[in-house]
Amino acid sequence: MPQPSLAADAFMRVVVIGAGLAGLSAAESLLAGGADVTLIEAEQRIGGRTRTIHDSYVGGQYAESGAEWVDSIHWRMLDLMERFDIETLGEGMPWTTIRRWVYWNGERHAGSDIEKLEVNVFAAIERYENLCEAPATTMDDPSQPHLHRDAEFLDSRSLADLIRESDLGPVGRLFARRNAQGEFASEPAKVSALFVAQQRAFENSEVQRQGIEMLSNRVKGGVSQIAQALGRDLSQHSRLTLKLGCTLTSVEQTSDGVVVGCSSSEGNFELAASHVVLACSLVPLRNVEFRSEIPTALREAMWGLGYGPITKTAVQFANREWDSGYGTTDSLSQRLYDPSVDQDGESGIVMAYCGGDGGRDLATKPESERIDAMTTDMRTIHGITSLSTGAFSRAWSSEPNYGGAYATYEPGQVTKYWKVLREPWGRMHLAGEHVATCTGYMEGAVESGRDVADRILRTS
Ligand SMILES: Cc1cc2nc3c(=O)[nH]c(=O)nc-3n(C[C@H](O)[C@H](O)[C@H](O)COP(=O)(O)OP(=O)(O)OC[C@H]3O[C@@H](n4cnc5c(N)ncnc54)[C@H](O)[C@@H]3O)c2cc1C
Repeated sequence: MPQPSLAADAFMRVVVIGAGLAGLSAAESLLAGGADVTLIEAEQRIGGRTRTIHDSYVGGQYAESGAEWVDSIHWRMLDLMERFDIETLGEGMPWTTIRRWVYWNGERHAGSDIEKLEVNVFAAIERYENLCEAPATTMDDPSQPHLHRDAEFLDSRSLADLIRESDLGPVGRLFARRNAQGEFASEPAKVSALFVAQQRAFENSEVQRQGIEMLSNRVKGGVSQIAQALGRDLSQHSRLTLKLGCTLTSVEQTSDGVVVGCSSSEGNFELAASHVVLACSLVPLRNVEFRSEIPTALREAMWGLGYGPITKTAVQFANREWDSGYGTTDSLSQRLYDPSVDQDGESGIVMAYCGGDGGRDLATKPESERIDAMTTDMRTIHGITSLSTGAFSRAWSSEPNYGGAYATYEPGQVTKYWKVLREPWGRMHLAGEHVATCTGYMEGAVESGRDVADRILRTS
């Protein structure tokens, strides 16, 4: 069969894989720069890891199965929201409220009582946080953490090392572990201290640059609306072809471009283009046939980068019989909070956010079992007696198009993988949260999509 090739009259044709925020943002910038874009998405919907759940609940309530918070420093996301008239919901929240209560050895303790459980626990946690933060203050450029003067040393250490050195007691260790499982979706031993420093340095530099407080906001009506509004906007564009339900199966670099193989329910097809942007998690890419040999360092990074598992389970109850604050538990549910706190109605929703080993274990069970287990935990911890009126549970590590919640650079991976993942390989470019400076966030997805598009437009 003859290979498809680029039409002589095409200015530039780019295939973008993945209609999450990274792929949509890349497509938008490429279209603005005059390119023809084919956007390929495996699922029948756009939005990727932004996925609001409405249908499972009564009374118009909703919960986020993926991304939930837009931070005050995430200016690209806030700009998109403003452009599409999407508002934040309730008051912005500083993450210190995370210590509102703790469930420990079968009892719930309010924030003010936590010190009674373990003397000086907050001073010990502060020691730990200072150890995490210290290398961030000497990181000149958070977009290049591998250039930190102590990069090798910091990257050889994990959050588990910092926990040990902070001399935390059992309750303090629970807080530190739950923080790693929540923020980095991973056990402390699987998180590089250099990666943590990079994340803190990025946050600090944005707080300073923008002169604002770091607060996290929910989105009124749900986060999904943002990608969907952007997708609707792009679909008006005559130079965009959007193909839903199509999966990337192969990539080959040729003398004048790339040939991308895809499969869909209507059959397999190949597309020729000047460039391909792979704007999806690296996990599904590990099943793609790369017909041109990938350089060893890049291959190692693409196949090796860590992804943390998160399982989110949100149960609606007829009455709000709980303290709405964020809680840390020593049980299966790990962290409980009320994502519906600013939504109207008598009923309300309790969310269990489980990462690391616990999130991965839950992911091996069917959704109904996860919901039953979390509902029991929520009832026990809060003493909830009212009827459950709806629920969902999503385990991101068991979804083949994602393979995890978000990238977590493990010990040794920042110095080895950071740079190579952010460079083009010929005409193939990686985009997505995992190659951003704002790694792990929607902001990073948008940042990476726009950056890759700029690079392609600049060099072509
Ligand atoms: C549980 C959870 C909580 C989170 N919380 C937050 C938060 O509070 N705030 C925040 O900012 N961020 C949060 N995030 C992270 C945020 O959701 C992601 O960083 C962001 O949405 C990633 O966008 P992306 O475009 O890089 O990737 P994705 O959204 O994964 O988009 C990639 C797209 O590629 C498609 N795809 C995959 N493989 C193929 C293939 N072979 N062929 C074709 N298409 C393919 C996928 O279906 C998907 O639509 C959270 C994520 C999770 C999972």
